[in-house]
Amino acid sequence: MPGWTGRLLRVELSKLQIRDEAIPDTVLQQFIGGKGLGTYYLYKEVPARTNPLGVDNRIYLAAGPAQGTRIPITGRCSAISKSPLTHLYIDSNMGGYFGPELKRAGYDLLVIEGQAPKPVWIHISENEQEIKDATKLWGKTTHETELQLRKPNPKTAVISTGPAGERLVRFACLTHNYFRNFGRGGLGAVFGSKNLKAVAIRGPKKKIATTDADRERELVIKLAQRARKAKKRGHSLHYRGTPWLVDYSNSVGMFPTKNFQATVFEGHNKIDDETIEAKFQGQKGRTPCEGCVISCAWTFKAPQFSWAPKDQVGEIAIPEYETLGLMGGNLGINDIDAIIQMNHLCNNFGLDTISTGNVIGFLMELTQRGLLPKNLQSDTIAFGEADKVIQLLTKIATREGIGDHLARGVRGFAETLGESAPNLALHTKGLEYPAWDPRGKLGLGLSYVTAAAGASHLRGWPSTTKPPESNAIPVLDSLIEQQNLKILKDSLIICHFTHSISPRLNIADCAEILQVTTGTKATADSVTEISNRIWTLARMFNIREYDKPPRQYDKLPHRFMNEPIPKGPTKGFTAFISHQDFETSLTELYKRRGCTPKGHPTKETLRNLGLSS
Ligand code: SF4
Repeated sequence: MPGWTGRLLRVELSKLQIRDEAIPDTVLQQFIGGKGLGTYYLYKEVPARTNPLGVDNRIYLAAGPAQGTRIPITGRCSAISKSPLTHLYIDSNMGGYFGPELKRAGYDLLVIEGQAPKPVWIHISENEQEIKDATKLWGKTTHETELQLRKPNPKTAVISTGPAGERLVRFACLTHNYFRNFGRGGLGAVFGSKNLKAVAIRGPKKKIATTDADRERELVIKLAQRARKAKKRGHSLHYRGTPWLVDYSNSVGMFPTKNFQATVFEGHNKIDDETIEAKFQGQKGRTPCEGCVISCAWTFKAPQFSWAPKDQVGEIAIPEYETLGLMGGNLGINDIDAIIQMNHLCNNFGLDTISTGNVIGFLMELTQRGLLPKNLQSDTIAFGEADKVIQLLTKIATREGIGDHLARGVRGFAETLGESAPNLALHTKGLEYPAWDPRGKLGLGLSYVTAAAGASHLRGWPSTTKPPESNAIPVLDSLIEQQNLKILKDSLIICHFTHSISPRLNIADCAEILQVTTGTKATADSVTEISNRIWTLARMFNIREYDKPPRQYDKLPHRFMNEPIPKGPTKGFTAFISHQDFETSLTELYKRRGCTPKGHPTKETLRNLGLSS
């Protein structure tokens, strides 16, 4: 069918075998691609209680109908697996050109299973698929690995795990093009557990055909015009990248500060986009994902850091907002040079900056409150101690000393500390919090608790600018709509930042993209149903793992429910006006999502979505 290749490549590492399989048309029609396709196969193939770092876990790297076509803002890829950090469902979305390259090589999906007897990497081209010896790559940083694997052809798309993933750090990420990441949930550790260092793909130079070239051209023009219109209006992401969000988040009282003890950071204007612009004037270069007309990403063009290896000049990324929030404000650090170095080290070691910033912030608050146990008291670290953070990153990646404790993530580390720590441990379902405090937006907490992945900022927010000053039920419909939109974007796959084009991308646009790429008769209603199906199936994957009713896992941390924000524009707010409001709103959200009050999808919902077994 146009838009899809209809093929998957299955790599069985234990047997060192590769085979090509067809993907049934019905599966593609019911799950689209990307996140949806990976969720379908994960649920079908990874049984309950599988050890995420064991031989039976699998990782799915998926493209969608838009990858490799002329449609812009689609240089994306999805990864889906069982998370070693949360022991639940995880999906992650990454930019660059890996997704389009997978598609051009002839596949919608790459399935990796088993465990190789020794370190290997996978090479894929249109005519050749091989499992190769990676003994000499093992131990190398993601940067060194990528340089090596791109030598024969610099345009090869590589993803690799770094030293952190090799050592099974629970929040290790996968890195592509030096600074793009499948960041969340420990996918780098899944590679590490499989003795898999990297995947390198080079497809042929061709565009993937869609069903209707004229409509495709019209759509390309329309999306480009909407991006241009946003630029004319001063489009912040194009001109200022995501670092512009530092000032915005601080101004609305949502910026993580000192392990989320506050939401305004006095040093915010030393780590924002204007500081970066002034300090590195004329030395920034754009490094967009393939075919992007928004172009939000920046790297440094010139050598300016004493710590940077010479071969890495030009590939040092400007930290994204999430990193500036979690490794800046959340650690009380206002030194932009230090944060750039931390970001670079995390990229090289293969560490998720969101989880890393959280676990170090947790350690800092334990230090602040004198709660570290005796055996860790030589590892104290105060908020603002950037030099010590830089040293800690190496310890985490190598699991040396305190680094071994931190490598378990916030929940895992808290579990080793006894009763003193849990109220300071910020996570939902084991996934650490992104740089947006739920006490700053009405209903945002419901987005975090009902995401199968846990506390992710990319699962749909309610459309409101209000803080949690009233009952959350009025924002539920917009939250559900946005959740569905995010799922569609991650399945087609189109960048989340299409919320910033003018007018912003909506569900009807997603239906149009599906129509144009695949020729299916998609409508806003039909793609909403697909989105509901994917949301429900991801939830069912988690339910198979639970010991208790699902509702008991859909929780916000103690701090967000019970500690009012101490100062700033959101002073006095908790994430909900009361515990009762949280419970009532959650029950209502379940109802609108077709779930029982305990959080199980009803039989009728499963039947309507074609998910009854
Ligand atoms: S907006 Fe940014 S992240 Fe999104 S596709 Fe473009 S360059 Fe990549």
